[in-house]
Amino acid sequence: MDKYNIDAEGDGTEHDHLSSSLHTPLREDAFKMTDDLKIELIEKHFREIMHILGLDLADDSLQGTPHRVAKMYVKEVFRGLNPHNKPAAKLFLNRFGYNQMLVERDITLYSYCEHHFVPIIGKAHVAYIPEKHVVGLSKLNRIVQYFAHRPQVQERLTMQIAEELKAMLFTENVAVYIEADHLCVMSRGVHDVSSSTITTEYAGLFQQEQYRNEFLAYIHKR
Ligand SMILES: [Zn+2]
Repeated sequence: MDKYNIDAEGDGTEHDHLSSSLHTPLREDAFKMTDDLKIELIEKHFREIMHILGLDLADDSLQGTPHRVAKMYVKEVFRGLNPHNKPAAKLFLNRFGYNQMLVERDITLYSYCEHHFVPIIGKAHVAYIPEKHVVGLSKLNRIVQYFAHRPQVQERLTMQIAEELKAMLFTENVAVYIEADHLCVMSRGVHDVSSSTITTEYAGLFQQEQYRNEFLAYIHKR
């Protein structure tokens, strides 16, 4: 099996038509280790990094940092790597026949740039036009958080959210819009504190101008 094409989402969905870049590059043995063992090993290596930087690990302010960082990586900021943490889809039949757009806007987004391991901070706006199924609103937020809690590039994050919404809602009619600041751009490199990055994915009806414009009007309306 191509290591970049494993079913990282754990949902058994095959995305043959999509490039391998849609998938987070995970090894097949990614979850053979327990979380506890991962934390123990990362802690050891992070202590080494701090030591090499010349920090005194005996200082009581620094002592607990390797363990805190290891636990934060495995249990919090990168918990979306593990398919077991994927939110279960609980759908409802669209009994009321709602066939207009539903927009969930201003979803707070915290992710991590996979090139520098520093935060990406922004907002996600997602929308869908239901067919036979609707979903609880908090689920849309959870899907965004699940894919954000991985080392990411914003383009892939946007596409992963869109693909998951399509598969979960049994419709192509989904839109995802992410605007985010990358701390690797703001705090280092070109030190640009005012630029932000926008990525979008429009599928199904959202490829038509009228639906796309309606979506954009909702998310820009204050
Ligand atoms: Zn970066």
